[in-house]
Amino acid sequence: MKPAEHYLPTEIIAMLKRQHYALFGHSAAKLCHWTKASLSKNQFCYKQQFYGIESHRCLQMTPAVAWCQQNCIFCWRPLSPLKEFPNEFDSPKEIVEGSIAKQRVLLSGYGSLREQIGEKKLQEAFNPNQVAISLSGEPTLYPKLPELIKEYRKRNFTTFVVSNGLNTEMFSKLKPTQLYLSIEAPNEKIHKKINSPLIKGSWKSLNQSLVAMPKIKTRKAIRITAVKGLNMSNEKEFASLLEKASPDFVEIKAYMFVGYSRKRLKEENMPLHSEVKGFAEKINNHLGYTIAGESKASRVVLLSSGKKNLRI
Ligand code: SF4
Repeated sequence: MKPAEHYLPTEIIAMLKRQHYALFGHSAAKLCHWTKASLSKNQFCYKQQFYGIESHRCLQMTPAVAWCQQNCIFCWRPLSPLKEFPNEFDSPKEIVEGSIAKQRVLLSGYGSLREQIGEKKLQEAFNPNQVAISLSGEPTLYPKLPELIKEYRKRNFTTFVVSNGLNTEMFSKLKPTQLYLSIEAPNEKIHKKINSPLIKGSWKSLNQSLVAMPKIKTRKAIRITAVKGLNMSNEKEFASLLEKASPDFVEIKAYMFVGYSRKRLKEENMPLHSEVKGFAEKINNHLGYTIAGESKASRVVLLSSGKKNLRI
């Protein structure tokens, strides 16, 4: 595995390190807020609440830390993305092993809270069994993503992958435990405004991925990030995009005024939980799913088609 310096300019590396990203090759791991909260305060993320994965055993990582085809206005990541993924890249085995090793380093300070956390939970945290392949960048740009998912699965991980759906060919090949497509715009005009695509034909590609979704044989979810004043309207158009994809779950979640998005948006763009819920209900009036859960702490509402069990 080549060092991060081989792939990234020094200023980007310095910026990512300041944000506590643990870099390895073109990949990175970072402790999720909820992994830390689970260990220090016994609080957990909405995906533990909804689906039963465990926040303290979750490894948040990306195989493409700095590469994406969009530059979304609400993104909290600290950089403008690079477009061209490197031609040479690490193997799935190197990435899985690198990510687990980095997670252990990131967790090392928690040894001092051993008594408070308890030996069993601490050991479990050091042996993650859930990976969230999201963090930063677009994972489908890594050419061996299906093999990476398999490599984690071989080690008994559940796998969540979050994609922007712009690389339909790769997206259609993925079979993680739960596959997410992230949409934020009900139509092309708003898509261009808030996703700032860096490639041509992005709206068409996104729609091709939506149409491909019903045939993908795994649990599927669509996430809508609700940004007040920007996309909390056009509910019928959102519902017709969702109908194309027929996902098992829809997570409608508030934009959070955190990280570098604060340079582009205002605190008023962060909707209240009640506003997210109202928006979710309006979309669902056109969709006919069931409201299956909500988390006020994360300002998220879960819609379910009823076709799959919530718990994994
Ligand atoms: S599933 Fe997502 S939110 Fe939950 S602990 Fe993992 S990375 Fe954090």
